[in-house]
Amino acid sequence: MKYGGNNFALPYYFYIRLSAIGEYSTIRNSIEQFIFGEKIGGSNRKIKCGQFKIIKDILLATMENSSDIRDILERIHELQLQLAELNGRLRRGMLLLKSQTAAIQKNETTLQTVTGEYNKLYAYAKQKELEVAQNDQNLAKRKEQLREAKTNKEYQALLSQISADEAARSVLDDEALEAIEKAEKFHANVNAAEQELKKSQELFEKTKKKYYDDKPKIDADIISIGESLNVEEVKLPREFKEIYDRLKRNFAGGESLAVVENQSFCGACNHQIPINSLAMIMQKKPITCSSCARLLYIPKDFVFERG
Ligand SMILES: [Zn+2]
Repeated sequence: MKYGGNNFALPYYFYIRLSAIGEYSTIRNSIEQFIFGEKIGGSNRKIKCGQFKIIKDILLATMENSSDIRDILERIHELQLQLAELNGRLRRGMLLLKSQTAAIQKNETTLQTVTGEYNKLYAYAKQKELEVAQNDQNLAKRKEQLREAKTNKEYQALLSQISADEAARSVLDDEALEAIEKAEKFHANVNAAEQELKKSQELFEKTKKKYYDDKPKIDADIISIGESLNVEEVKLPREFKEIYDRLKRNFAGGESLAVVENQSFCGACNHQIPINSLAMIMQKKPITCSSCARLLYIPKDFVFERG
């Protein structure tokens, strides 16, 4: 390999080779800036065609030797999915606790309602019993008066009153009995409501225990995965990093990447990816799904099939 007449290409080559084991994206960015002229000033601007080719070759070699962008994206996606799963578990646990709290409140209301109804029925039955007792007292009093009746007219009047009271007593007796039976029967609803409430409270306590038993481990895993994610994120080349950071904000730290599935479909939203986008992805360009906006990458064994 010849490095041309200028002596600046040679040290740059060694610089790249030595740095290749370090920060991939930084090297790549600096080479790109070098090649495409973003930060080239003074005499460096005068790159000859031969030198450009050498640097381009080095750039490609560096890209191949460094972690492949596809692998980085796949690893990031994997970590995102793990994070989403753990956050999902915490979220679902919280939702379950909320719904079980709501169930307890509903059961408490039901218990209050049926207890109120039972108390009314019980009070009515007691009232009927009192009426029976009152009627008995009246009856006893009239029977006493009957014995002490002085005239026949008075005697007849009391007799007719007693007969009416006895008839009323029979009706009251039936009513009191019916009211007591009704209240006793209804008490089964109170028992059932109490059972339901107890069951929902026990279920809530069980869920709460499990949630708070699991939470420290999940929290620790979230932190650890977050750290691994940071390690992978700094490996992203600049043009990927800019898009990735934006998506990370838009997707609120959720799944912002998607793998190409079944040759040409977005793995997240199933939208068909145009063939030119696929070609760009294969050329290691950052391409997002036009439907769900996630950054796309191809699976490891991907074979590009036209049509
Ligand atoms: Zn999509």
